Order: sequence, then structure tokens, then C-alpha cells
Amino acid sequence: MHLPKPLFQALAKKGDCMRNYTNGEHYLLLYSPIFKRRYTVDCDIVMGCSIGCQFCYYRWVAGASEYFGTGKLYPLCSPEELAEILETSRIVRKDKDGIMMCARSDGSIQLNKVEAFLRAFRYYNLIFLLHRGYFDRRQLEAFEADKRVIFCTTLTPAGKQLGWTPIDEYKQLEGISFLVQNGVSPRRISVEVGPINENNINQAVDILQKLQDIGLEFATYRGVSVGMFEMPSPENELINKGFLTTQKPNAEDHAYYHIKNFLTPELQAKLCGAVNKMRLHRFTGTLYRDEFGLDIAYNRKNRRRKELGPFPEADLSAIRQYVANLGYPVEKVEKTSEGYLVTLDPTSPAVTEDVAMTVGAEFNTCVVFNKYKIAPDMEDVKLYAKQKIIALSEVE
Ligand code: SF4
Repeated sequence: MHLPKPLFQALAKKGDCMRNYTNGEHYLLLYSPIFKRRYTVDCDIVMGCSIGCQFCYYRWVAGASEYFGTGKLYPLCSPEELAEILETSRIVRKDKDGIMMCARSDGSIQLNKVEAFLRAFRYYNLIFLLHRGYFDRRQLEAFEADKRVIFCTTLTPAGKQLGWTPIDEYKQLEGISFLVQNGVSPRRISVEVGPINENNINQAVDILQKLQDIGLEFATYRGVSVGMFEMPSPENELINKGFLTTQKPNAEDHAYYHIKNFLTPELQAKLCGAVNKMRLHRFTGTLYRDEFGLDIAYNRKNRRRKELGPFPEADLSAIRQYVANLGYPVEKVEKTSEGYLVTLDPTSPAVTEDVAMTVGAEFNTCVVFNKYKIAPDMEDVKLYAKQKIIALSEVE
């Protein structure tokens, strides 16, 4: 298989690769079609978009920033190669896992490429297709017939007014209404409303009510997030725009997020009281499990995620075998009150969040590890390539 990323080697030959990425997480983000697995497998054909939301994480990732809001696109792979990469990668459970497309981009600029990917991909995985632009006849005609496709978008309340995004959320609502009126089941439309803080809470309530009036059955709401990866986020600019207010940086041992999904309890209560028929999700775990019937890991950041409720039973020896087959030798597996605890063999590397969430999803339960890290370093990426956890042939 030809993988399209000779950049690692090309840059390494020039001797300046370390200037271009700092660790495995950064490497995957910049160069790999599949860049992470959480509740879904997140992947792209191209990186970049022409929209340029002020709060976009990728604008603060060194090596990525020039592709967001400029219309300059970085090709990651061809549509057919993406299908092959997904089929080859063991982190992708065929016919089971949700696949998220266009997170490092936007569906509106690559409709033909996504169509070509759908023709090439043989499995019945749900494809969550992110589209920040306005839905119209083109998306309807391209994707309605393929029942794997879920029409996904994010509506930012007062986003244009506040200068956070050039996209008009009321025109987005018209696009969603157009899909429903033309026969797309509301169950195939997944909308996230956010980012939300004190400055757009009233508009967020209005948006949720309008989504309910259109006939949507569920939506997700999000607080404020700020990313950073070797590039400072423009905090003063974000404060001036009313984006950063009371949020405090999250203490995560993760280079990527500085602030993640922050929402005060008062704002959350207001949102929950906004609608009476539509189901609202604060976190995506319940969204994927309850609305789309996907298997999900009940573990996150190597802890049981309590909002998901009690974790289902699983077979200890099957967990042991599955983890070992992924390339992490196991000493023992035991059930605890906080999930199935896997003690890895002393010779085993620590598992990453990508792997931990794959194992949790495979057994639809909570699996935690004695050795764990939230993000991969380059040694993990090499193991991903060797074990085909993520298909990457260029890492040496
Ligand atoms: S549309 Fe998506 S990828 Fe483009 S700038 Fe906005 S958040 Fe980022």
C-alpha cells in the first residue's frame, strides 16, 4: 500500500523534522489520515478549510495553522487510500465503530472526495460527516441515499455577531430544515451547539428551541475549548472577543487542550431547561451510545466515566487476549469497582488513550490500565505502524 506521507522521511533527511512536530500526537495530527480514536475514529482526506473560526484548535497547532481559514488545503491521502487505511487499521472495528470525517477540515470543500471515499469503503460503519457550511441540495443529493452518513454540524450561537466565526447560525438552521423537509430523518442529523459561555447563552437557548421546532430529536451542547500545540493561543484576542471569560486551564497531561469544554453549572442548567422534547447531551459518550447505538468505552483518561452509568460485564480472558493481540503483553486482568483493570507485563509499553478506548469499545465496558498515557509519543506511533493499530507505513 502506498501511503501518501513521505514527509516524515523527507523532513528527517533534511535534518529538521523536530522543528515540524514535537511528539507522536503532533505527528498524527499533522500527517496521518487517522489522527485519533476516542468514541469515534477521527480521520480526514485533507487538512484545512476556508472558514477560519477564531476558536478553531488547529489554528494553534504549529504546522497546521496556515491551512485554516485560508482555503489552502494540505492533502493527507486520496479517498481510496483513506478507505484502505481504515480497513487496515486495527483501531477501526469494521461494521461497528463510528468514523468521524472532516474534523481537521470542513465537509463543504471536499464533497466529491467524500463521495469517492464512500464508494471505496466497503463496511457498514456510521460515517459522521462534519459540515460547518450551510446544508443545501448538494449534500442532500450526495449523501441522502447512503444510510451510513450522519449529517453533522456545529452551530455557534451569536457566532457571527461576536466575531467568533463567519458562519451565520440562522442560515445553518435553514439548511437543517431543508434536509428534514426533503426526507432526511432527524435521526441522521447530529448538531452540536457551541461554544457557549455567558456571552451567547440566550442565543444558545433560542437555537436549541429552533432545532426542536424543526423536528430534531437530540443535540449536543458544548462549553468553551482552547487548544495549543507549540503555538500560543491568542488569549488577549479571545478575551477581547468575549470568548475567554471565567474559564481556567484544565489540568490535563496533554499537550493539545488548554481549556476543554468548560461550561458553568448555571449555564448548563439554563440549557437543560431550554427544551422539553429534544434530548440533550453534555458529553459525546451518551450521544453515540444512546442515539446511534454504538459500542463505547466507559473509560476515559484511564478512569471510569461516571455519567455513563454502571459498566457492563465482560470476559476477563477475552480482554487479556484482545489487548495482547494489539501488541501489549498482559500479566493479569481483574474486575474492580472502577472497571476491568489490566496489569500489563513489565516489558509492555504503556497503552495510549487511542488503544484504551478501542479496548473499552470492543467490550462495551470500562477497561483501565496500570500503565497508561493520554497521548502517543513517537515510540507509540512506531508501534501503531508496526502492529497496524493505525496504518502508517512511513514511520521508521
Ligand atoms: S470550520 Fe472547522 S476546521 Fe474550519 S476553522 Fe472552523 S472549526 Fe476549524
